[in-house]
Amino acid sequence: MTHTTDLNQDLLARAKRVIPGGVNSPVRAFNAVGGVPRFVERAQGAYFWDKNGQRFTDYIGSWGPMILGHGHPQVVATVHAAVDEGFSYGAPTEREVALAEKILALMPSMDMVRLVSSGTEAGMSALRLARGFTGRNKIVKFNGCYHGHADALLVKAGSGLATFGSSSSAGVPADVVKDTIVLEYNDVAQLEEAFAKMGSEIACVIMEPIAGNMNFVRASVEFTRRIRELTQEHGALMIYDEVMTGFRVALGSAQSLYAQQIEGFQPDITVMGKVIGGGMPLAAFGGRREIMEKLSPLGGVYQAGTLSGNPIATACGLKTLELISAPGFHAELHLKTGQLMQGLKAEADAAGIPFSVDWQGGLFGFFFLPELPTHYPQVMTTDQARFNKFFHGMLQQGEYFAPALYEAGFMSAAHSQDDIDRTLEAARAVFKTL
Ligand SMILES: *Cc1c(COP(=O)(O)O)cnc(C)c1O
Repeated sequence: MTHTTDLNQDLLARAKRVIPGGVNSPVRAFNAVGGVPRFVERAQGAYFWDKNGQRFTDYIGSWGPMILGHGHPQVVATVHAAVDEGFSYGAPTEREVALAEKILALMPSMDMVRLVSSGTEAGMSALRLARGFTGRNKIVKFNGCYHGHADALLVKAGSGLATFGSSSSAGVPADVVKDTIVLEYNDVAQLEEAFAKMGSEIACVIMEPIAGNMNFVRASVEFTRRIRELTQEHGALMIYDEVMTGFRVALGSAQSLYAQQIEGFQPDITVMGKVIGGGMPLAAFGGRREIMEKLSPLGGVYQAGTLSGNPIATACGLKTLELISAPGFHAELHLKTGQLMQGLKAEADAAGIPFSVDWQGGLFGFFFLPELPTHYPQVMTTDQARFNKFFHGMLQQGEYFAPALYEAGFMSAAHSQDDIDRTLEAARAVFKTL
């Protein structure tokens, strides 16, 4: 290996020999923005440090889980204590029950919950459950929403409604996605047309309530209301994928915000992950009792996991949920995120750069677009070259935002006023170079 002064570069070369692309999840490779990914040595509070010893203000927070910041002393102490009691048993524990009780107490739409190890697993299991419960095959998803990498969900939009999407990944047989219908997000007319044509065959509609995998795009209240009405009319289930938004945009998650505007609003099944593990591999899906009772060992829908409800992960998740349940936690986070977003917007305006922002709780998005987009094709009209220049300019100054224009941003409780001020100062300098 030729030694460079950039230890990230050296490590990337070493990693590429043994791990495809040098990373264990594609977005970490910086393919969208180019350049060398930063290999993290350690993290504390709002920061992490890379192989070169450079400090970064962390606005990805492990893509969502680190809502308290890194290494919160109470979480660390709880995890240490759990480690001393054993890593995994393959038998039930009280902590799983306590975590389930805590999740249900915060999420009134869920009567029962099943714990799993990743958001992908939770989403895939929720789909199987919806199909098992309804006895139907077809599923509706929206272009630009991500629900993990289960085969049936790796589908790109087709050219017309009657034509089903084609798989977006090699290795996914056409047969496996033939029942997946891909519609445009926030398009009520397309949704109505799909239900008019195929309503009796649709098992479920799965959606991100605020799409965090095409940067940050809210479902309109009208769109959400029509999905709820149409699924109910046609005997289909509504699955809310709150893996990213869950416990991050509000203590009651995104569904609590939509319930303020749509009377009695509740999804049938909710998928959760990220924050609920506090940085440990933990995810969940839950919903109405009559649906959840279809799961094995009670019902005929099979689902299982060797490490499901892992005792270390549940300890970490439970302590995290306890701490974020403190009164005013999300209101304060929302204010802080708003400060960053409004500040960025002001700096962009001052530099004469078209820019739009949105945020909720500790989740945010910014676009090099004059208006907020409402669906994926609009998101992708962003000036990629300008975004990439912004990203690298900020990175140079120790400000780590998501390395792709279609990813959301994450604020934690550990970010201070000084951190935000420093980020805005860096942005002022970078916007001038765009
Ligand atoms: C991250 C994410 C997933 C997948 O979760 P993993 O733990 O990465 O498998 C699913 N849905 C949404 C909305 C996500 O943001």
